[in-house]
Amino acid sequence: MKIRCRSCYRVLNNDEEYCTRCGAHSDEVKELMDSGITPIDEVLVAKQSILMYLLVAFLLNGILNVLFGIIFNTIHEGYNYGEVGMDLPLAVTYFSAANSLLITSLVIIFVAFMFNYKDLMPFMKINNKKRFAITTAVGSLIMVGITFITKYTDLTFLPIYIRDFLISPTIDMKLEGSLNLFKIIVILICYSFCEEVIFRKAIINGFDEGTLLRDSSIIILQTLISTILSSLCFLLLQKTSFTDYMWTIGGNFIFHFLMGLNYYFNKRSITSNLIIRLIFIVLVVIIL
Ligand SMILES: [Zn+2]
Repeated sequence: MKIRCRSCYRVLNNDEEYCTRCGAHSDEVKELMDSGITPIDEVLVAKQSILMYLLVAFLLNGILNVLFGIIFNTIHEGYNYGEVGMDLPLAVTYFSAANSLLITSLVIIFVAFMFNYKDLMPFMKINNKKRFAITTAVGSLIMVGITFITKYTDLTFLPIYIRDFLISPTIDMKLEGSLNLFKIIVILICYSFCEEVIFRKAIINGFDEGTLLRDSSIIILQTLISTILSSLCFLLLQKTSFTDYMWTIGGNFIFHFLMGLNYYFNKRSITSNLIIRLIFIVLVVIIL
């Protein structure tokens, strides 16, 4: 919640009963100070969330990828890696990528609940039941469309190896238990939750609090930031063709734009987004 000066529209600090720019008195700040409630600094939350995502998604994900490569090596001693200088076998790549994404998601969820629990809860509540019902129903229908687009075109709304596994798992993927359906469902659920907390709640509220941008501009900005961050996280350390990169980025862009819109329609509640994403996961598991 941000309080602005009535006369010069500057964002006021929590203790700024008199605006330090123009000197106007703010009744809202006075009330806030009297009530003794400390409002949460959404800009700080947004910065911390993005920083955490970068740290966890890139640094930790990278380290874990290497670590799981070593673990794979230990479990499957004597595994044939092929010639020196050749690419690593796909079984190793899938094993590392899937486990790393799972752990990084769990870390983000843990941090979100540990440090931002009080801040998180208001955004889980349903603000308008009618809107919630309509947007969730419409969103679910759109997810059916998106599932079929993923199935029949190259445009993808899932990490490429997960899409490929669901459509038709290759021997490499199943080999040595590198990937399985249960693991994929858990990864997708955890990762969806992380994205909603960071990309929707933290980024949108951060821009809203810290800037004077219009809602439409904020939706576009959050779409761009989310697309860049999630595409990097999905594609990091993965060998895919340039066209696959483009299809993934395109899919992410559409997906984050829709989720941003839905977040606004639901008056800043992530619950509808979470339910729609859960439906998407069920759909891709059944239909792909
Ligand atoms: Zn002022």
